[in-house]
Amino acid sequence: MSSDGGSNSNSNRKGVRIGVLSIQGDVAENVAAVSSALKAPRGFEDDAVLQVKTAGEIARLDGLVIPGGESTTIGRLSAAGGVLDAIRERINGDGMPVLGICAGLIMLARSADDRTVGRLDGQPLLGVLDVEVQRNAFGRQRQSFETKLDIKSLAISNFKGVFIRAPVVCGTGPDVEALCELPPGVGGGGGVGGGDNDNGDAATDGGGNPRRRIVAVRKGDIIGTAFHPELAGDLSIHQHFVDAVRRRKRRD
Ligand code: GLN
Repeated sequence: MSSDGGSNSNSNRKGVRIGVLSIQGDVAENVAAVSSALKAPRGFEDDAVLQVKTAGEIARLDGLVIPGGESTTIGRLSAAGGVLDAIRERINGDGMPVLGICAGLIMLARSADDRTVGRLDGQPLLGVLDVEVQRNAFGRQRQSFETKLDIKSLAISNFKGVFIRAPVVCGTGPDVEALCELPPGVGGGGGVGGGDNDNGDAATDGGGNPRRRIVAVRKGDIIGTAFHPELAGDLSIHQHFVDAVRRRKRRD
């Protein structure tokens, strides 16, 4: 596997070029997970994983991982450099597959609020996925937790879901598939719709129904997870993403 992506314009390229947005957050872990997933069951010589942070680099990718971290930081820094626009253009324009993890899921969303701060008017988002997310839905770092997840439509079961200051998706548009939802009571003693919500808001919607706690979503080749698959010791989700990138490239 080439480490620099090889020559950019070689249309005979069999391999894929996958970027990990490297502005802030869990970059190294995702580079490692994508590299391993690219080798299974066997990769191509010219497969590449690239740490990307400029619009020019985004333009040359076949797929992108937006890692977990701090979505306000990732959003502001990438908006300033035109990177946010470049990513949006590749996803909306060319259907570039993208895996958004935790802060990355927040970046993909149409709208976000924060469990303690409330509305977030100034936070730059990509808005490519018609979902509403609540940031920090389970509370602070000490309310981080792990739980086993089944994601039936990806044929993944017993997946170690690592939730670190995680968001939840509390509403989806009609074209977005909820892949996985937390049952009531799961979630380290916090979270919308379950546990000890310390400020009492958001546990129910306007109609008094428990708000949903969806933790994985998909729309075509856009996948978002509230948890960190790169920390699961299980490559299934990265593998699914890499397969989507390979399929997409074969179609183009
Ligand atoms: N709490 C972070 C945010 O709102 C996300 C945390 C993470 O990516 N692990 O951006």
